[in-house]
Amino acid sequence: MPESRYIGRFAPTPSGYLHFGSLVAAVASYLDARAVGGRWLVRMEDLAPPREMPGAQDAILQTLERYGFEWDGPVERQSSRGEAYEAVIQQWLLSGLAYACTCSRKQLEGTGGIYPGTCRNAQHDWHGDVAIRIRVPELEYAFIDRVQGEFRQHLGREVGDFIIRRRDGLFAYQLAVVLDDAWQGVTDIVRGADLLDNTPRQLYLQELLGIAHPRYLHVPLIIQPDGHKLGKSYRSPPLPAEQAAPLLVRALRALGQAAPQALVHCTPREVLDWGIAHWDAGRIPRSLTLEDARL
Ligand code: GLU
Ligand code: ZN
Repeated sequence: MPESRYIGRFAPTPSGYLHFGSLVAAVASYLDARAVGGRWLVRMEDLAPPREMPGAQDAILQTLERYGFEWDGPVERQSSRGEAYEAVIQQWLLSGLAYACTCSRKQLEGTGGIYPGTCRNAQHDWHGDVAIRIRVPELEYAFIDRVQGEFRQHLGREVGDFIIRRRDGLFAYQLAVVLDDAWQGVTDIVRGADLLDNTPRQLYLQELLGIAHPRYLHVPLIIQPDGHKLGKSYRSPPLPAEQAAPLLVRALRALGQAAPQALVHCTPREVLDWGIAHWDAGRIPRSLTLEDARL
């Protein structure tokens, strides 16, 4: 393997089992890293205990193992990173970049998810039962995704000041993901396209922190015939261990890779090795229907 500066990661949320859509994301990030001799990390995004499914963490790691994935280093957990997140929040509160918000859900009804800035200059006490928001600039953030192409979003008009710590004390995904990817030296983020429109917020936080932007590759979501995304809203059963090779082959095909049918009779490890040897990210489609994914 050539020396490589590439560090990739798979960062599941243990709110349920891995489903086929998350397998596609795992395969893509794994192959993209290994094809260039890079490192590949697994990070458990267990930020929200109330939404965690008991046993999901173990089940996810077990599925990854049975499906032939090998990760580098220990599995890091966001649940043990609270101090690092809090330190940044305190710094931003002191500098005035972040502020306390006391708005109730009801007060924010009808805003279309774009925070109107109600508490921006209210100087609420930040100790206690408040959410913490970060001020966003009236600017458009843009980046070139390796599969989805150019993506632009105006943070002021399309997002508004967003939450970095919730009222119930839980840290927000946007903050945790940026701090952890930087802390772990991640150079390449490969994940589902449901997170495409989160990326400008993350670019902005990276800018505030003086962190280099990673490269991004958002793999297509699988669209059900009814137009719904295949994802967490559906309580999916665990991916069956005895179907590992055929499901890996399906995942490869969903990613546009010309995996030969005979691979279904190989071990999961052999399927992934074929994937590493033949990986071509340029073949990944921008979108996908369930029909395509059944290939
Ligand atoms: N934890 C997120 C999820 O499972 C992924 C976060 C990321 O890859 O940035 O949807
Ligand atoms: Zn508010």
